[in-house]
Amino acid sequence: MEIKAALTGNPNCGKTTLFNALTSSKQRVGNWPGVTVEKKEGTYKNDPSILIQDLPGIYSLSPYSLEEVVARSYLVQEHPDVILDVVDTSNLERNLYLTTQLLELDIPVVVGLNMMDIVEDKIDLKKLVRWLNAPVVEVSALKKQGLESLMKQVKNESAKKEQKPFLFSRSIEDAIGSIQRLLPETKQTRWYALKVLENDSRILEELSLSKTDQQKITKLREAIENEFDDDIESILTAQRYDFIEKLIQDCVKRKRTKHAMSVSDRIDSIVTNRFLALPIFVLIMYGIYTIAMGSTPFSIGTIGTDWANDVLFGETIPGMMGSVIQYFHINPILASLLKDGIVAGVGATLGFVPQILVLFVFLSILEDCGYMARVAFIMDRLFRKFGLSGKSFIPLLVATGCGVPGIMASRTIEQDRDRKLTIMTTGFIPCGAKMPIIGLFAGAIFGNSSLVATSAFVIGIAAVVVSGIMLKKFKAFAGEPAPFVMELPAYHFPSLSNVLHSTWERGFSFIKRAGTLILLSSIVLWFLQSFGFVNVDVKINMYINDEINMYNF
Ligand code: GDP
Ligand code: MG
Repeated sequence: MEIKAALTGNPNCGKTTLFNALTSSKQRVGNWPGVTVEKKEGTYKNDPSILIQDLPGIYSLSPYSLEEVVARSYLVQEHPDVILDVVDTSNLERNLYLTTQLLELDIPVVVGLNMMDIVEDKIDLKKLVRWLNAPVVEVSALKKQGLESLMKQVKNESAKKEQKPFLFSRSIEDAIGSIQRLLPETKQTRWYALKVLENDSRILEELSLSKTDQQKITKLREAIENEFDDDIESILTAQRYDFIEKLIQDCVKRKRTKHAMSVSDRIDSIVTNRFLALPIFVLIMYGIYTIAMGSTPFSIGTIGTDWANDVLFGETIPGMMGSVIQYFHINPILASLLKDGIVAGVGATLGFVPQILVLFVFLSILEDCGYMARVAFIMDRLFRKFGLSGKSFIPLLVATGCGVPGIMASRTIEQDRDRKLTIMTTGFIPCGAKMPIIGLFAGAIFGNSSLVATSAFVIGIAAVVVSGIMLKKFKAFAGEPAPFVMELPAYHFPSLSNVLHSTWERGFSFIKRAGTLILLSSIVLWFLQSFGFVNVDVKINMYINDEINMYNF
């Protein structure tokens, strides 16, 4: 029998790292139905009967963001067999806030205390298990420690089918009980009752209670609000944090290293310094672009691309193709389709792969070691001015290599509005493949002026800024970008497998387009070129070919 385990946790708690460490390479990535929130699933590599589903990173189960709505409707409607709650132990208090809510769903919870490789506090696991009524396992997703015992607990717990919740104070528990009895038979769960008590508009709509029931519930809510002299949400939040505070006092022995600055903090004092941050960033990017796309003897990306264009797709493959065509006496029209259409079209695209891969390797290293999170943080102040969040920076940066993985990278932006805005503007960034076209125009129309190429680049960036400002005028995008909440992970050495994994993921989305969309359009273009109005076509073709030869693209 298959076990469905839902991976949940705060943004940046290490969910993706854990997911990659647990699942085999056969992952399925897609979107949740109807929304652009990433959905990932894969099976546990040591036991394929366990299906792991990666939910969006969330801070609570309230309906404040699309991610929270997606995550909670999944948990309530699909009812997975077990919730694997990933906790960033270096931020225990904030992360346990979500845990207290997960315990209310009546789905067995297994808590994975992640980041134990950098946490020095002593945690009394036995006590913690008693507080949470759920098994707790110390792990490090990064160092791949404790994963087997974590998954053993997942398997054990999945058989249980029930979960003891965390309890509020007496009067609130009584109210929850009373509300539960008013609900439709299939929805008499603690979770629904709590959401009704909280006045959660989405849930109230879903339940469509009678007027008299609604009045009874309002009375119950008001009685509690009067008793605690606060609004219901604040009362519940305060009780959750009270519980967490007591739990931490009882279970955690803090190591007294508060005053000593960690290595990570010391790096940050330079790298995120008000004056040095930008110059350091520019220097790093300059170095990376030189290696990936420059024209120096150590620009390995360019060397690879030159080889791919001149040798692989310029001689080797067309040569082989020629022999095959000759050997089988292939029809000349089909031969032309193969050579001039497919090999030329797809080859021109695949020629960029070396440059793009080198760029992506470096970007993945920066991401994995924790620097990218700082860059997003540094850029946030600037980006906010035209309505984007600092988190849009990484997609824009990736898009300078290729727009497809750039837009894919915007999946990590939690706020739906910010993400859509990023997706809509990222396409303007001049990517690797647009540069030769810009060069062609500069050469063919503007007498090879270098100003044109430069300004095309600047116009691309300006288009991002201007469209950001314009889109903000629409109702759907109005309002401030979400406040910048992001855990800055401690710096660490990038892991080879993570870097290769994300380079591959991004590079592959480029190659996939080359094999599908670009293959198709090459065929269409070849057809139009070969069977169109011959005179006009040939002329344009010849003209472009001449230009290309003249300016040596
Ligand atoms: P997600 O947002 O929950 O998917 O988090 P990620 O998996 O992207 O991880 C966020 C950051 O925490 C990355 O820089 C990871 O390398 C780092 N990280 C994840 N797990 C661990 C861990 O066990 N120990 C340490 N030191 N860092 C970790
Ligand atoms: Mg993630």
